[in-house]
Amino acid sequence: MNYKIAVVPGDGIGPEVIDQALRVLDRIGEKYNHNFEYTKVLAGGAAIDATGGCLPQETIDICKASDAVLLGAVGGWKWDTLPGDERPERALLGLRKELGLFANLRPAILFDELSEACPLKPEITAGGLDIVVVRELTGGIYFGEKGFKDTDLGPAAYDVEQYAEEEVRRIAIVAFDMAMKRNKKVTSVDKANVLESSRLWRRVVAEVAKDYPEVELNNLYVDNTAMQMILNPKQFDVIVTSNIFGDILSDEASQITGSIGMLPSASLAQGNFGMYEPVHGSAPDIAGQNKANPMATILSAAMMLRYTFGLSNEADAIEAAVKKVLADGYRTPDLMANGGKEMGTKEAGDLILAAL
Ligand code: ATP
Ligand code: MG
Repeated sequence: MNYKIAVVPGDGIGPEVIDQALRVLDRIGEKYNHNFEYTKVLAGGAAIDATGGCLPQETIDICKASDAVLLGAVGGWKWDTLPGDERPERALLGLRKELGLFANLRPAILFDELSEACPLKPEITAGGLDIVVVRELTGGIYFGEKGFKDTDLGPAAYDVEQYAEEEVRRIAIVAFDMAMKRNKKVTSVDKANVLESSRLWRRVVAEVAKDYPEVELNNLYVDNTAMQMILNPKQFDVIVTSNIFGDILSDEASQITGSIGMLPSASLAQGNFGMYEPVHGSAPDIAGQNKANPMATILSAAMMLRYTFGLSNEADAIEAAVKKVLADGYRTPDLMANGGKEMGTKEAGDLILAAL
């Protein structure tokens, strides 16, 4: 089958890690008889340098005409002096909006092979961890009404947390669909003891759950969830939550996995369309030195195969190849705190291809 992928290498280490991910996809294509057709497009600093703007219309059009988008990273010191709304990072907000990406998926996977990097006690994480935080991305307090007013206590500022039933329903459906492809367990996180928007959230999630009788649903308050993530993270599989709670919990979850160089992410729209990118940024401090860990991007490509293209065997194969390289003791510099056989960006790609 033919799959159209818009590729945004971006800035800094973006192009380096993207190169390795495309090599891995090509090998998967050969092995399983798929044709991945790439169209490289500009966004971020690279686009500013070439066109003056961080998100050219052509990039938007090509992304929309593709089945999925694979992105490296955008931004860097070079553009740090530009005003906020002209910065390379605006390209990400623009893409989210133009592509209707309303669900952000951040897996926190602790590979057993990397348990040395985990700050939690070994008995808590034995066997590894595999959690995915499904965060609502376009609603809630970050996008609600904001403003200033005078109060009894003097000048004040406010931000409104508002969720439409439909916004909750569509993110809940993403989470339950995902649970069906995983371990059939959803934890919905809210603060329904104090927030009206959370009570609506809880009610709508329960309605959606009726369509997925095989999936176990638990409701937890966000404060308890933050605690449980450290005390007993193994209880979690799919966590679904609002924009602000997801922002915080996904960062917390990511830290139990050790390195930022290992973390993939996806942002999904209605249907199966998605944009896939590593959690890390453009890392200008190590750009062009063959030091970047390409695994977060390679694992993002695996997520693309799994969630947009429905190719779960192929995604499994990539994840197994990454684990094999780690199990064989190879580490990029970001993973070397406890030693290991050092590999560069390109060598990591070579070893993963060999494992495939
Ligand atoms: P941004 O604003 O784009 O998120 P940032 O500086 O906040 O940039 P990163 O670019 O993710 O965050 O870099 C944070 C640190 O992590 C840097 O020291 C960087 O070198 C390191 N880092 C990030 N990604 C990787 C990677 N793939 N491999 C190795 N180290 C990385
Ligand atoms: Mg950052």
